[in-house]
Amino acid sequence: MIETLHLNALAPESREEAVNTAAGLLKEGKLVIIPTETVYGLAANALDAEAVKRIFVAKGRPQDNPLIVHISDMEQIAPLVREIPENARLLAERYWPGPLTMVMPKSDLVPDVTSGGLDTVAVRMPSHKTARLIIEKSGLPLAAPSANLSGSPSPTTAFRCAQDMDGRVEAIVMDEDSQVGVESTVVALHGQDVLVLRPGAVTPADIARVVGEEHVSVHPSITAPLSSDMKAESPGMKYKHYAPKAEVTILRGSRQAFLDYVGQHREQGVYLLQFEEDDDIGLPYLCYGSAEDSSSQAHRLFEALRELDELGAKTVYAHAPAAEGVGLAVYNRLLRAAAFRVIDLE
Ligand code: AMP
Ligand code: MG
Repeated sequence: MIETLHLNALAPESREEAVNTAAGLLKEGKLVIIPTETVYGLAANALDAEAVKRIFVAKGRPQDNPLIVHISDMEQIAPLVREIPENARLLAERYWPGPLTMVMPKSDLVPDVTSGGLDTVAVRMPSHKTARLIIEKSGLPLAAPSANLSGSPSPTTAFRCAQDMDGRVEAIVMDEDSQVGVESTVVALHGQDVLVLRPGAVTPADIARVVGEEHVSVHPSITAPLSSDMKAESPGMKYKHYAPKAEVTILRGSRQAFLDYVGQHREQGVYLLQFEEDDDIGLPYLCYGSAEDSSSQAHRLFEALRELDELGAKTVYAHAPAAEGVGLAVYNRLLRAAAFRVIDLE
Protein backbone atom coordinates (compact mmCIF):
# COMPACT_ATOMS: atom_id res chain seq x y z
CA MET A 1 0.00 0.00 0.00
CA ILE A 2 1.29 3.45 -0.87
CA GLU A 3 2.02 5.84 1.98
CA THR A 4 0.49 9.28 1.42
CA LEU A 5 1.92 12.11 3.46
CA HIS A 6 -0.47 15.08 3.18
CA LEU A 7 1.75 18.03 4.07
CA ASN A 8 -0.99 20.63 3.62
CA ALA A 9 -3.23 18.93 6.11
CA LEU A 10 -0.58 18.56 8.80
CA ALA A 11 0.42 20.62 11.83
CA PRO A 12 4.05 21.89 11.71
CA GLU A 13 5.42 19.10 13.93
CA SER A 14 3.68 16.46 11.84
CA ARG A 15 5.00 18.07 8.66
CA GLU A 16 8.48 17.56 10.02
CA GLU A 17 7.63 13.96 10.72
CA ALA A 18 6.39 13.51 7.13
CA VAL A 19 9.64 14.95 5.78
CA ASN A 20 11.60 12.61 8.04
CA THR A 21 9.57 9.62 6.87
CA ALA A 22 10.18 10.51 3.21
CA ALA A 23 13.91 11.01 3.84
CA GLY A 24 14.09 7.69 5.70
CA LEU A 25 12.45 5.82 2.82
CA LEU A 26 14.85 7.41 0.33
CA LYS A 27 17.83 6.34 2.44
CA GLU A 28 16.50 2.77 2.26
CA GLY A 29 16.53 2.91 -1.56
CA LYS A 30 12.76 3.43 -1.89
CA LEU A 31 10.86 5.62 -4.36
CA VAL A 32 9.13 8.73 -3.01
CA ILE A 33 7.17 11.34 -4.97
CA ILE A 34 8.10 14.83 -3.85
CA PRO A 35 6.75 18.30 -4.67
CA THR A 36 9.04 20.73 -6.49
CA GLU A 37 8.39 24.22 -7.87
CA THR A 38 8.42 22.95 -11.49
CA VAL A 39 6.35 19.71 -11.41
CA TYR A 40 6.13 16.82 -8.94
CA GLY A 41 9.19 14.55 -9.05
CA LEU A 42 9.63 10.79 -8.62
CA ALA A 43 12.69 10.65 -6.38
CA ALA A 44 15.28 8.05 -5.44
CA ASN A 45 18.89 8.10 -4.25
CA ALA A 46 20.76 9.19 -7.41
CA LEU A 47 23.85 7.22 -6.34
CA ASP A 48 22.02 3.92 -5.80
CA ALA A 49 21.85 2.18 -9.18
CA GLU A 50 19.21 -0.31 -8.02
CA ALA A 51 16.92 2.44 -6.70
CA VAL A 52 17.36 4.46 -9.89
CA LYS A 53 16.55 1.42 -12.04
CA ARG A 54 13.23 1.24 -10.24
CA ILE A 55 12.41 4.82 -11.30
CA PHE A 56 12.68 3.76 -14.95
CA VAL A 57 10.44 0.75 -14.31
CA ALA A 58 7.84 2.74 -12.33
CA LYS A 59 7.56 5.35 -15.09
CA GLY A 60 8.03 3.06 -18.08
CA ARG A 61 10.80 5.46 -19.12
CA PRO A 62 13.29 4.59 -21.90
CA GLN A 63 16.60 3.75 -20.26
CA ASP A 64 18.66 6.07 -22.42
CA ASN A 65 16.75 9.12 -21.16
CA PRO A 66 18.91 10.40 -18.28
CA LEU A 67 17.64 11.77 -15.00
CA ILE A 68 18.21 15.12 -13.32
CA VAL A 69 20.04 14.95 -9.98
CA HIS A 70 18.62 17.31 -7.34
CA ILE A 71 20.75 18.87 -4.61
CA SER A 72 19.99 21.36 -1.84
CA ASP A 73 23.47 22.73 -1.18
CA MET A 74 26.43 23.75 -3.38
CA GLU A 75 28.64 21.42 -1.37
CA GLN A 76 26.77 18.44 -2.77
CA ILE A 77 27.88 19.14 -6.32
CA ALA A 78 31.64 18.51 -6.15
CA PRO A 79 31.40 14.71 -5.72
CA LEU A 80 28.99 14.44 -8.68
CA VAL A 81 31.07 16.20 -11.35
CA ARG A 82 34.62 16.21 -12.73
CA GLU A 83 34.58 19.98 -13.08
CA ILE A 84 32.23 22.90 -12.61
CA PRO A 85 32.49 25.12 -15.69
CA GLU A 86 32.87 28.82 -14.86
CA ASN A 87 29.54 29.70 -16.48
CA ALA A 88 27.83 27.02 -14.40
CA ARG A 89 29.15 28.72 -11.27
CA LEU A 90 27.86 32.09 -12.43
CA LEU A 91 24.46 30.71 -13.43
CA ALA A 92 24.17 28.82 -10.14
CA GLU A 93 24.90 32.01 -8.21
CA ARG A 94 22.09 33.80 -10.02
CA TYR A 95 19.42 31.10 -10.56
CA TRP A 96 19.90 28.45 -7.88
CA PRO A 97 17.88 27.47 -6.08
CA GLY A 98 15.42 27.50 -8.98
CA PRO A 99 14.16 25.87 -12.20
CA LEU A 100 17.52 25.63 -14.01
CA THR A 101 19.29 22.32 -14.76
CA MET A 102 22.91 22.29 -15.89
CA VAL A 103 24.64 19.42 -17.69
CA MET A 104 28.23 18.87 -16.49
CA PRO A 105 30.95 16.20 -16.89
CA LYS A 106 30.02 13.38 -14.51
CA SER A 107 32.21 11.75 -11.86
CA ASP A 108 32.47 7.98 -11.42
CA LEU A 109 30.27 8.23 -8.33
CA VAL A 110 27.18 8.80 -10.49
CA PRO A 111 25.96 5.44 -11.79
CA ASP A 112 25.55 5.03 -15.56
CA VAL A 113 21.88 4.25 -15.10
CA THR A 114 21.32 7.76 -13.64
CA SER A 115 23.04 9.47 -16.59
CA GLY A 116 21.48 7.20 -19.21
CA GLY A 117 24.96 5.94 -20.09
CA LEU A 118 26.23 9.46 -20.86
CA ASP A 119 29.51 10.89 -19.64
CA THR A 120 27.64 13.92 -18.26
CA VAL A 121 25.18 14.48 -15.45
CA ALA A 122 22.34 17.01 -15.21
CA VAL A 123 22.15 18.82 -11.86
CA ARG A 124 19.54 21.14 -10.36
CA MET A 125 18.97 22.80 -7.02
CA PRO A 126 15.21 23.18 -6.53
CA SER A 127 13.76 26.10 -4.56
CA HIS A 128 10.70 24.30 -3.21
CA LYS A 129 10.85 24.30 0.57
CA THR A 130 9.64 20.73 1.05
CA ALA A 131 11.90 19.35 -1.69
CA ARG A 132 14.88 21.06 -0.07
CA LEU A 133 14.02 19.75 3.40
CA ILE A 134 13.73 16.20 2.08
CA ILE A 135 17.08 16.42 0.26
CA GLU A 136 18.72 17.89 3.38
CA LYS A 137 17.24 15.32 5.74
CA SER A 138 18.17 12.40 3.52
CA GLY A 139 21.65 13.82 2.93
CA LEU A 140 21.41 12.42 -0.61
CA PRO A 141 21.43 13.79 -4.13
CA LEU A 142 18.05 12.74 -5.53
CA ALA A 143 17.38 11.60 -9.08
CA ALA A 144 13.87 12.86 -9.78
CA PRO A 145 12.18 12.86 -13.17
CA SER A 146 8.59 14.05 -13.42
CA ALA A 147 6.29 11.76 -11.43
CA ASN A 148 4.07 10.70 -14.35
CA LEU A 149 3.86 7.56 -16.39
CA SER A 150 6.02 8.01 -19.47
CA GLY A 151 3.71 9.45 -22.11
CA SER A 152 1.43 11.41 -19.73
CA PRO A 153 1.78 15.12 -19.10
CA SER A 154 3.97 15.93 -16.10
CA PRO A 155 1.94 16.11 -12.87
CA THR A 156 1.44 19.49 -11.26
CA THR A 157 -0.84 18.23 -8.48
CA ALA A 158 -0.47 15.47 -5.91
CA PHE A 159 -3.74 13.99 -7.16
CA ARG A 160 -2.31 13.40 -10.66
CA CYS A 161 0.75 11.71 -9.14
CA ALA A 162 -1.47 9.32 -7.22
CA GLN A 163 -3.52 8.66 -10.37
CA ASP A 164 -0.44 7.66 -12.37
CA MET A 165 1.76 6.13 -9.71
CA ASP A 166 -0.34 4.47 -6.99
CA GLY A 167 1.16 1.04 -6.37
CA ARG A 168 4.39 1.92 -8.20
CA VAL A 169 6.12 3.97 -5.47
CA GLU A 170 6.46 3.69 -1.70
CA ALA A 171 5.16 7.15 -0.77
CA ILE A 172 3.80 10.43 -2.08
CA VAL A 173 4.51 13.66 -0.24
CA MET A 174 1.34 15.61 -1.01
CA ASP A 175 1.76 19.37 -1.02
CA GLU A 176 0.46 22.40 -2.89
CA ASP A 177 0.14 22.47 -6.69
CA SER A 178 3.42 23.12 -8.53
CA GLN A 179 4.01 26.85 -8.95
CA VAL A 180 5.83 26.88 -12.29
CA GLY A 181 3.98 24.01 -13.97
CA VAL A 182 6.54 23.07 -16.65
CA GLU A 183 9.82 21.22 -16.14
CA SER A 184 13.12 23.01 -15.57
CA THR A 185 15.21 24.73 -18.21
CA VAL A 186 18.03 22.35 -19.22
CA VAL A 187 21.32 23.80 -20.51
CA ALA A 188 24.59 22.33 -21.74
CA LEU A 189 27.80 24.28 -21.18
CA HIS A 190 30.42 24.27 -23.94
CA GLY A 191 33.32 26.48 -22.88
CA GLN A 192 31.91 30.02 -22.82
CA ASP A 193 28.76 28.97 -24.67
CA VAL A 194 25.45 27.91 -23.18
CA LEU A 195 23.07 25.82 -25.27
CA VAL A 196 19.45 25.62 -24.13
CA LEU A 197 18.34 22.00 -24.58
CA ARG A 198 14.90 22.39 -23.00
CA PRO A 199 13.18 25.72 -22.33
CA GLY A 200 11.68 26.44 -18.92
CA ALA A 201 10.99 29.27 -16.52
CA VAL A 202 14.60 30.45 -16.62
CA THR A 203 14.56 31.96 -20.12
CA PRO A 204 17.31 32.39 -22.73
CA ALA A 205 17.22 36.13 -21.91
CA ASP A 206 17.72 35.36 -18.21
CA ILE A 207 20.76 33.25 -19.10
CA ALA A 208 22.09 35.94 -21.45
CA ARG A 209 22.05 38.44 -18.60
CA VAL A 210 24.67 36.31 -16.87
CA VAL A 211 26.85 34.94 -19.70
CA GLY A 212 26.27 37.52 -22.47
CA GLU A 213 23.82 37.26 -25.35
CA GLU A 214 26.52 36.18 -27.83
CA HIS A 215 27.11 33.05 -25.76
CA VAL A 216 23.51 31.76 -25.63
CA SER A 217 21.84 29.61 -28.25
CA VAL A 218 18.64 27.62 -28.34
CA HIS A 219 18.65 24.09 -29.76
CA PRO A 220 16.59 23.99 -33.00
CA SER A 221 14.61 20.96 -31.79
CA ILE A 222 12.85 23.17 -29.24
CA THR A 223 10.55 24.59 -31.90
CA ALA A 224 10.82 21.96 -34.67
CA PRO A 225 10.96 18.18 -34.95
CA LEU A 226 14.42 16.72 -34.39
CA SER A 227 15.68 16.04 -37.93
CA SER A 228 17.85 13.03 -38.67
CA ASP A 229 20.96 15.17 -39.20
CA MET A 230 20.55 16.98 -35.87
CA LYS A 231 22.36 15.66 -32.87
CA ALA A 232 20.07 14.79 -29.95
CA GLU A 233 22.23 16.63 -27.43
CA SER A 234 19.64 15.69 -24.88
CA PRO A 235 18.10 12.22 -25.24
CA GLY A 236 14.74 13.61 -24.04
CA MET A 237 14.48 15.45 -27.37
CA LYS A 238 13.92 12.19 -29.20
CA TYR A 239 10.78 11.39 -27.28
CA LYS A 240 7.38 12.82 -27.90
CA HIS A 241 6.55 13.74 -24.35
CA TYR A 242 2.88 13.40 -24.41
CA ALA A 243 0.53 11.85 -26.90
CA PRO A 244 -2.99 12.88 -25.88
CA LYS A 245 -5.92 10.80 -27.05
CA ALA A 246 -7.24 13.82 -28.90
CA GLU A 247 -5.64 15.18 -32.05
CA VAL A 248 -4.31 18.57 -30.98
CA THR A 249 -3.70 21.31 -33.55
CA ILE A 250 -2.13 24.64 -32.64
CA LEU A 251 -3.70 27.68 -34.28
CA ARG A 252 -1.42 30.68 -34.52
CA GLY A 253 -3.10 34.05 -34.91
CA SER A 254 -5.03 36.87 -33.27
CA ARG A 255 -8.06 36.35 -31.04
CA GLN A 256 -10.33 37.17 -33.98
CA ALA A 257 -8.54 34.83 -36.39
CA PHE A 258 -8.72 32.02 -33.81
CA LEU A 259 -12.46 32.57 -33.29
CA ASP A 260 -13.14 32.74 -37.04
CA TYR A 261 -11.32 29.46 -37.65
CA VAL A 262 -12.87 27.46 -34.82
CA GLY A 263 -16.31 28.94 -35.62
CA GLN A 264 -16.10 27.04 -38.91
CA HIS A 265 -15.21 23.78 -37.17
CA ARG A 266 -18.19 23.17 -34.93
CA GLU A 267 -17.97 19.41 -35.04
CA GLN A 268 -18.76 16.74 -32.50
CA GLY A 269 -15.82 16.09 -30.15
CA VAL A 270 -14.12 19.43 -30.85
CA TYR A 271 -12.72 21.20 -27.79
CA LEU A 272 -10.87 24.48 -27.60
CA LEU A 273 -7.81 25.15 -25.49
CA GLN A 274 -7.82 28.90 -25.30
CA PHE A 275 -6.94 31.94 -23.22
CA GLU A 276 -9.06 33.66 -20.61
CA GLU A 277 -9.41 36.60 -23.01
CA ASP A 278 -10.83 34.43 -25.84
CA ASP A 279 -14.62 34.54 -26.27
CA ASP A 280 -17.00 31.70 -25.53
CA ILE A 281 -18.38 30.86 -28.97
CA GLY A 282 -20.51 27.95 -27.86
CA LEU A 283 -17.91 25.22 -28.34
CA PRO A 284 -16.66 23.40 -25.23
CA TYR A 285 -13.39 24.93 -24.07
CA LEU A 286 -10.77 24.95 -21.35
CA CYS A 287 -8.56 27.92 -20.54
CA TYR A 288 -4.85 27.79 -20.01
CA GLY A 289 -4.07 31.13 -18.44
CA SER A 290 -4.01 34.59 -19.91
CA ALA A 291 -2.71 35.41 -23.41
CA GLU A 292 -0.67 38.18 -21.78
CA ASP A 293 0.91 36.06 -19.06
CA SER A 294 3.13 33.15 -20.10
CA SER A 295 3.68 32.06 -16.50
CA SER A 296 -0.05 31.57 -16.01
CA GLN A 297 -0.07 29.39 -19.17
CA ALA A 298 2.85 27.30 -17.90
CA HIS A 299 1.11 26.84 -14.55
CA ARG A 300 -2.04 25.53 -16.18
CA LEU A 301 -1.00 23.72 -19.41
CA PHE A 302 -0.35 20.14 -18.25
CA GLU A 303 -3.44 20.01 -16.06
CA ALA A 304 -5.58 21.34 -18.94
CA LEU A 305 -4.20 18.61 -21.26
CA ARG A 306 -5.12 15.93 -18.72
CA GLU A 307 -8.60 17.41 -18.31
CA LEU A 308 -9.16 17.43 -22.10
CA ASP A 309 -8.38 13.71 -22.22
CA GLU A 310 -10.81 13.05 -19.37
CA LEU A 311 -13.53 15.04 -21.12
CA GLY A 312 -13.16 12.76 -24.13
CA ALA A 313 -12.03 15.45 -26.55
CA LYS A 314 -11.41 14.03 -30.05
CA THR A 315 -10.04 17.16 -31.69
CA VAL A 316 -8.46 20.04 -29.81
CA TYR A 317 -7.73 23.43 -31.32
CA ALA A 318 -5.22 25.19 -29.12
CA HIS A 319 -4.67 28.93 -29.38
CA ALA A 320 -0.90 29.35 -29.76
CA PRO A 321 1.03 31.05 -26.98
CA ALA A 322 3.57 33.75 -27.77
CA ALA A 323 6.74 31.65 -27.97
CA GLU A 324 8.91 34.12 -26.08
CA GLY A 325 10.30 34.16 -22.57
CA VAL A 326 8.53 31.55 -20.46
CA GLY A 327 6.15 31.22 -23.42
CA LEU A 328 8.90 29.37 -25.30
CA ALA A 329 8.60 26.56 -22.74
CA VAL A 330 4.80 26.57 -23.05
CA TYR A 331 4.99 26.44 -26.85
CA ASN A 332 7.63 23.68 -26.74
CA ARG A 333 5.42 21.42 -24.59
CA LEU A 334 2.24 22.18 -26.53
CA LEU A 335 4.03 21.57 -29.83
CA ARG A 336 4.92 18.04 -28.69
CA ALA A 337 1.38 17.37 -27.48
CA ALA A 338 0.24 18.48 -30.95
CA ALA A 339 2.82 16.27 -32.72
CA PHE A 340 4.04 19.51 -34.37
CA ARG A 341 0.68 20.27 -36.08
CA VAL A 342 0.52 24.07 -36.38
CA ILE A 343 -1.73 26.17 -38.62
CA ASP A 344 -0.80 29.80 -39.28
CA LEU A 345 -4.06 31.72 -39.55
CA GLU A 346 -2.62 35.00 -40.73
P1 AMP B 1 12.71 14.87 -16.88
O1 AMP B 1 13.44 14.00 -15.93
O2 AMP B 1 11.48 14.24 -17.42
O3 AMP B 1 12.54 16.27 -16.38
O4 AMP B 1 13.69 14.99 -18.13
C1 AMP B 1 15.04 15.32 -17.95
C2 AMP B 1 15.54 15.97 -19.20
O5 AMP B 1 16.91 16.33 -19.00
C3 AMP B 1 15.47 15.06 -20.41
O6 AMP B 1 15.08 15.81 -21.53
C4 AMP B 1 16.90 14.58 -20.53
O7 AMP B 1 17.22 14.21 -21.84
C5 AMP B 1 17.69 15.79 -20.04
N1 AMP B 1 19.00 15.38 -19.51
C6 AMP B 1 19.23 14.75 -18.35
N2 AMP B 1 20.54 14.45 -18.22
C7 AMP B 1 21.15 14.91 -19.34
C8 AMP B 1 22.49 14.90 -19.82
N3 AMP B 1 23.46 14.35 -19.11
N4 AMP B 1 22.74 15.45 -21.02
C9 AMP B 1 21.75 16.01 -21.75
N5 AMP B 1 20.46 16.04 -21.36
C10 AMP B 1 20.15 15.51 -20.17
MG1 MG C 1 9.28 14.04 -17.67
